[in-house]
Amino acid sequence: IIAIKGVSKRYPNDVVALENISFSLEKGEFCFLTGPSGSGKSTLLRLLYCAERPTSGDIFIDGVNVKTIKQTYIPILRRRIGVVFQDFKLLQDRTVFENVALALEVIGFNRDQIALRVNKVLENLGLGGKGKRYPQELSGGEQQRVAIARAIVNRPPIILADEPTGNLDPQRTMEVLDIMDELNARGTTILFATHDERLFEGTMRRVVRLQDGRLEVEYS
Ligand code: ATP
Ligand code: MG
Repeated sequence: IIAIKGVSKRYPNDVVALENISFSLEKGEFCFLTGPSGSGKSTLLRLLYCAERPTSGDIFIDGVNVKTIKQTYIPILRRRIGVVFQDFKLLQDRTVFENVALALEVIGFNRDQIALRVNKVLENLGLGGKGKRYPQELSGGEQQRVAIARAIVNRPPIILADEPTGNLDPQRTMEVLDIMDELNARGTTILFATHDERLFEGTMRRVVRLQDGRLEVEYS
């Protein structure tokens, strides 16, 4: 469902964030992306979300080379990809409910369907009752869960999660892992970036490790 072939990314400041990365994710796979701070995890996810372009190499999503797609197609592609950004990227002038509802509005859900879905996902993430609040009125962990709610509410086939538990306590972390497991059990392909090795210690999940922009170790 995702194939990365010989991808490198050099930022304008000449930092080489990724160097000749190749790997692929099968449909329905759950893969951890790990590596120390600065190793290129966020960069790789941004490339997959078409928020940045690779300096060289190719990225295929659903068999389509993202290099060849038109700018106008990117929003359509993004409907298939739920993203939890490391810095959340919540809209500050919208309530929690509105932030999460947006993903459903753009695909034409009616008001009742939206209310039903959004309230359910907020409930599942322990945010029931916070729908009318604004992001800046929430704790970091709560904002992170809003970002997760927004990424999953339209049930996309692919989820890219960038340190989605970085601001959560151990119990919330486990709850988020459980939600991801559940989505994966229903067929969602998940790429989960984290520098926290405890999250995948002892699991049977595939782990891809970046080190200074290179793919160092991979095991499954
Ligand atoms: P963390 O665990 O801290 O989130 P990361 O693995 O996600 O780190 P990236 O954010 O992908 O790492 O950064 C990889 C490298 O690219 C780092 O050296 C970083 O300083 C650099 N970098 C990231 N974003 C930019 C940017 N917009 N412009 C220039 N350099 C950048
Ligand atoms: Mg990062």
